[in-house]
Amino acid sequence: MEEVCEYCPECGNKSLRTIVQNGHQFEECDLCGYISGDEESIQQIFEEQEATEYEIDVPIYPLVRELNEIKGIRTVNSCGGRTDVLMLPFVDFTISDHLHKVLTNLLTSLKLSNRETVGNWYIEPYIHTELAFSLKPRIVQDIKYITPSQIREFRHDLRIIVRNLQMHRNLGWWRI
Ligand SMILES: [Zn+2]
Repeated sequence: MEEVCEYCPECGNKSLRTIVQNGHQFEECDLCGYISGDEESIQQIFEEQEATEYEIDVPIYPLVRELNEIKGIRTVNSCGGRTDVLMLPFVDFTISDHLHKVLTNLLTSLKLSNRETVGNWYIEPYIHTELAFSLKPRIVQDIKYITPSQIREFRHDLRIIVRNLQMHRNLGWWRI
């Protein structure tokens, strides 16, 4: 059991409010607004706030952010997957610089992630107004046979893909 800080680490104020948001619990200082608590929860809360600000689905937001960090990549559309109308998670993006190398790196990273993920993730080229790419899980059956729990598993895959992408971008073979 983790012990919760009894006063604000920022200003020393003793009146902290416990807030539960989307399953994360944290403490907010009544005086200065400082947020304390479990680091991972806090990171997720900030991520969710950012995602809402940019009007991007929370589950896909970390991948969208990560892809936009790569020089030349611009995301154009995305979805975190929907269980009510059965939509797969995906990110669509364009690549303006070093197309061959960027695509090779992304596919290499995905290939390694696919060892850990439930879905088999791939990148499909298509024409947006220019050449664009869609990163998504490959499904062999018709979308109408996909179950909500499969979509939730694909969402869980997204964390693995993002974690590996962050790691691979620092490795020698990634260098563009
Ligand atoms: Zn405070």
